[in-house]
Amino acid sequence: MRVFKDVNLANYHTFGVSVQSAWFAEVSRLTDLLTLLRSGVHPTLVLGEGSNVLFTRDFPGLVIKNAMSGKSLMPDPTDPHRVVVEVASGENWHAFVRWTLEQNLGGLENLSLIPGTTGAAPVQNIGAYGVELADVLQELEVLELHTGKLLRLKAADCGFGYRTSRFKGEWKDQFLITRLFFALSSQQHQLHTAYGDIESHLGGIPPEQRTPQQVSEAVMAIRRSKLPDPAQLGNAGSFFKNPETDRDTRDALLKKYPDLVSFPLRENRFKVPAAWLLDKAGWKGKSIGRVACHTSQPLVIVNTGGASGLEILDFAVTVAADIREKFGFRLEPEVNIFPSGAWPEGD
Ligand code: FAD
Ligand code: NAP
Repeated sequence: MRVFKDVNLANYHTFGVSVQSAWFAEVSRLTDLLTLLRSGVHPTLVLGEGSNVLFTRDFPGLVIKNAMSGKSLMPDPTDPHRVVVEVASGENWHAFVRWTLEQNLGGLENLSLIPGTTGAAPVQNIGAYGVELADVLQELEVLELHTGKLLRLKAADCGFGYRTSRFKGEWKDQFLITRLFFALSSQQHQLHTAYGDIESHLGGIPPEQRTPQQVSEAVMAIRRSKLPDPAQLGNAGSFFKNPETDRDTRDALLKKYPDLVSFPLRENRFKVPAAWLLDKAGWKGKSIGRVACHTSQPLVIVNTGGASGLEILDFAVTVAADIREKFGFRLEPEVNIFPSGAWPEGD
């Protein structure tokens, strides 16, 4: 393992902004990680593939780029239709999903083509097309950063919710997730095809003949047709979470905007797609300087070339303020912004 000084992070995150890290190390072995932690450099920041971060200034400590690899599977002793799959946290998420599909395992197909590492997936409980990580994750192994102890956690104890977990809340920056354990189906797959355009992409294949691989192909085709490739246009996926509201507020908005889109959640609660709000407010494809809301999916804020982290932050703050003024919703960033106090309180 080599530790580098004054490293530009532009190639290590998908917004591609130019910021310096005081120290930088790529870690593929647990023993190297423990050595690094004993060096006492602070603060530390664990980085996967940087597809959900926005740096607004230089990082004064040590960036630990996770490159731990390896995966295996074993029968689930409690269920003959399932297998337990173990994966190291530095593996690429989509490559891991495709590997499970090659083994004819079901459960991760709707989460195809999400960028990033497996180890970051629990941080925001990644989700797409009606499925989220928490539906299939059983356990995790984590390294407690200040003690160097390895712990096993049950998924049920991680506080998973809509694009959130305790790793984003009270456990923030305390653990490095080292390994994940999934329960995946080897037979009798439960496929989720009701969401969005998946059904139409399956092209009339009778339900009993559908496979997890076909659902994955459908999800990949939909995503490729709509979402910008970060290698071409810097972005970190959806910048904001979808806001939630109560029935009365939803109904009042519906009177004003009969084309309002909303989805029922729990009792009397509704999700309003942030993308609909942005589109209605005229942000789709709109730019200020070198930052824009994407032309097909306005929830994705893009770096159109050479923008700084502060320019992207300013743009997002302007967008959020406009949505608050027009609709009363307070948009909350989904992207992890560094330093963590950079997002203005109350916006
Ligand atoms: P990073 O950006 O490197 O890190 C994200 C956060 O996790 C940081 O706070 C970091 O410190 C922490 N972290 C990283 N690794 C670890 C670890 N091993 N242990 C502890 N903490 C860690 N997300 C979805 O949920 N659904 C989608 O459909 C989706 N689509 C996307 C599409 C595009 C085009 C892009 C660019 C992003 C999309 N995202 C989506 C967001 C992103 O892909 C996920 O959040 C992903 O899990 C981030 O992985 P990463 O390795 O890049 O994490
Ligand atoms: P979409 O299908 O155009 O849908 C727009 C929004 O409506 C989504 O935010 C979605 O909420 C919601 N929605 C649509 N159909 C729904 C249904 N049947 N039930 C409940 N909610 C529904 O969205 P998209 O931008 O093309 O993305 C497709 C999927 O990929 C979504 O699940 C989205 O979350 C995920 N995605 C996430 C990111 C990210 O960075 N987090 C980036 C790209 C795509 P949900 O978001 O809650 O599903």
